[in-house]
Amino acid sequence: MIPVNEPLLDGNEKKYLCECIDSGWVSSEGPFVKRFENAFAARVNSQHAVALTNGSAALELAVAVLDIGEGDEVIMPTFTIISCANAVIRAGATPVLVDVDPVTWNMDVAQVEAKITGKTRAIMVVHTYGLPVDMAPILEIASRHGLRVIEDAAEAHGLDYNGIPCGSMGDIGTFSFYPNKHVTTGEGGMVVTNDEQLAERCRSLRNLCFQASRRFVHEEMGWNMRMTNLQAAVGLAQVERLDEFILKKREMGAYYTQLLQGVNGIQLPVVRTDYAENIYWVYGILLDQDLPVNAKMMMDFLGARKIGTRPFFYPLHRQPVYQGMGLFVDESYPIAEYLSEKGFYIPSGLKLNRVQMVEVAEALNVGLDELVSPVLH
Ligand SMILES: *Cc1c(COP(=O)(O)O)cnc(C)c1O
Repeated sequence: MIPVNEPLLDGNEKKYLCECIDSGWVSSEGPFVKRFENAFAARVNSQHAVALTNGSAALELAVAVLDIGEGDEVIMPTFTIISCANAVIRAGATPVLVDVDPVTWNMDVAQVEAKITGKTRAIMVVHTYGLPVDMAPILEIASRHGLRVIEDAAEAHGLDYNGIPCGSMGDIGTFSFYPNKHVTTGEGGMVVTNDEQLAERCRSLRNLCFQASRRFVHEEMGWNMRMTNLQAAVGLAQVERLDEFILKKREMGAYYTQLLQGVNGIQLPVVRTDYAENIYWVYGILLDQDLPVNAKMMMDFLGARKIGTRPFFYPLHRQPVYQGMGLFVDESYPIAEYLSEKGFYIPSGLKLNRVQMVEVAEALNVGLDELVSPVLH
């Protein structure tokens, strides 16, 4: 089996974890949490970082500290993980969707301004699959309309937009450390910000809003979103190697592209845009619209050959849970619908080797051949 993702954990992870066990510091009070936060903040050029239980919690916290709630609207791409909309809806606010760009698979920034109403409070951008959103127009629109910017950088650790780290450009940036991300802690998340007050509120809300002077007296409802010392120990060892990981991912991306370049009927990730170089969070494959094959058929074919894949995101506006709530009912975003029907990603983890990549590329080739002209086989 070639898994769709396998993390690389052969740096200082074991050593730091042993330090936790030997010292007895396993909870969020242990020293690795602060060390991981400081190392991560420095790496993404942000002044403050607050470590959390996961990336979905980070989004929920970001929405909460920006005081987004009842009656507010937040603009976001429909082509993203459900966590983005869940965070907004749980806060009592409404997600307002835009479609994505067919080449970069990121939010189509040209569609944002038309969606702004008197209720709009924020734009939630999502840096997707290894390329960033075109941030300059987003920041310009936000500043002109007095909107906040939340950057979901869960797939963008160490990715730069015009030399600026993703996560550091908006009011608040969120990260995930799930094992398929560039930095993992098993489960984990982070918010980063340059705003001291927002950071302080994040720290309080993540910790149930305990008060220093009157511990069990609460002025506000928080959550327990604390990261453990064990998780942070792994995270610190991972972030020490982030530059190395990104180099490796770029090499892998270039190799897949070399292997698949001439193949008819598929669109590959773009290597670079005017403002960024791909870090290939995952290596996506998009089947041509007129090909009589969809992602599901191709993924089943590869699965039967023991090659792990994942489908692209299912658009938010099509999610049964939201349809059932009466949200996005008659809305249509053709590019996101096309991507979800025809897009999937192939094994992209840091442990993947070149022999496996050749095997994946060959299977993909054979699959296209057999599925496109089944009569001949
Ligand atoms: C992974 C991911 C998340 C959620 O992170 P979890 O840690 O799994 O909760 C949020 N947004 C995006 C874009 C992601 O890829």
